[in-house]
Amino acid sequence: MTPSTQQSKVVLLTGASSGIGEATARLLAAQGHRLVLGARRVERLRSLSEELQSLGFQAAYCALDVTRLEAMQEFAAFAEASYGPADVIINNAGIMPLSPLNATKVDEWDRMIDVNIRGVLHGIAAVLPGMEARGKGQIINVSSIGGHAVSPTAAVYCATKYAVRAISDGLRLESNRIRVTIISPGVVESELADTISDPSAREEMNVFRRIAIQPDAIARAIAYAIEQPGDVDVSEIIVRPTASPY
Ligand code: NDP
Repeated sequence: MTPSTQQSKVVLLTGASSGIGEATARLLAAQGHRLVLGARRVERLRSLSEELQSLGFQAAYCALDVTRLEAMQEFAAFAEASYGPADVIINNAGIMPLSPLNATKVDEWDRMIDVNIRGVLHGIAAVLPGMEARGKGQIINVSSIGGHAVSPTAAVYCATKYAVRAISDGLRLESNRIRVTIISPGVVESELADTISDPSAREEMNVFRRIAIQPDAIARAIAYAIEQPGDVDVSEIIVRPTASPY
């Protein structure tokens, strides 16, 4: 499906090098949007972007570490130079090194806070002034079912995902022109669990992830939120495996 120029949006996507981000890039590019892909593993972005371009789709990429505000600002500037000002940003980048609090993996707590919370705030900071000046735009933040309920070994991860929901709800309350959408996935096949260094948490996650759904399911939810008319804001979509209550 190729949308008209009017429907084709400039979409900034963080964490595009694997999992949900990669699936979202594929779907939105195929729908005719102009994608700007960001992540740290540039080789992956390069090959994804080349693959999409070879299919006639529009996808540029740029190295991005969301924990650095300047990097996010450069990402937004690169996007604008490539395709024009951002219509949509999808703050998707995230990490999940689970562990019990008594393991005191303080470095991992800090990294989760930096990527999952500061990264989202940096994405907002990079595009919000421009969107407000233009009187329109959409900010999509990827939270989690872990943003709705806490489980053992996931206290800090869940705290970051609760924070994403709080920030999104606050932003929505402050603007009647910017659309703000929270996407809260349940367990999805991706590389997310690879960051778990705690052996027991890793083992538990291996069991939990047996019912994981495909990342394309989350991509479709994101596409649904984007394709609504400008006066329709999808506040939140929770997408989870049928086999799981969470
Ligand atoms: P993946 O590990 O497959 O993808 C995570 C992405 O985040 C990668 O592209 C990675 O790219 C990027 N990333 C990590 N750190 C940084 C950073 N500092 N700067 C820029 N990019 C970064 O996992 P998912 O696709 O599953 O995760 C996507 C989002 O979905 C996350 O926010 C996650 O919390 C959320 N989620 C996932 C669920 C699941 O079960 N899979 C369930 C609920 C929520 P790179 O390493 O190249 O920088």
